[in-house]
Amino acid sequence: MCNLPPKFHSVCRLCLSFCGDNCSDVKLPIFDRDKDKSRLSEMIMENLSIMVSSEDLLPQVVCGSCAHKLDEFHTFRELSHKSERLLEQFVQYADSLCGTKEVSSGYKKKHITKIYRYNFYLHVII
Ligand SMILES: [Zn+2]
Repeated sequence: MCNLPPKFHSVCRLCLSFCGDNCSDVKLPIFDRDKDKSRLSEMIMENLSIMVSSEDLLPQVVCGSCAHKLDEFHTFRELSHKSERLLEQFVQYADSLCGTKEVSSGYKKKHITKIYRYNFYLHVII
């Protein structure tokens, strides 16, 4: 790969933006020094399904804008998965109550309180 231009490795791995030496945008290294993994590399692989390796010949930096978007997307992804689990638990729980017959009023009251609590969580999330 001796024909690559010197600026090739300064290009953002995700959006191809290039910032010269006097640019104010920060270029963040994908990998921590002497490590094969970093939070950034894991987020790229996990959220974008792009394989990155400290051994590959592609640029090893991302721009600040992409790092910010990636961080926001990761947070959004985590929230979505958490919401999905909560919704599934709510449906399972509500479903389990439909199957109960002849339950005591105390038992019902306790479970209805739980449903209200789930509704509150759902309402807060939505
Ligand atoms: Zn970028």
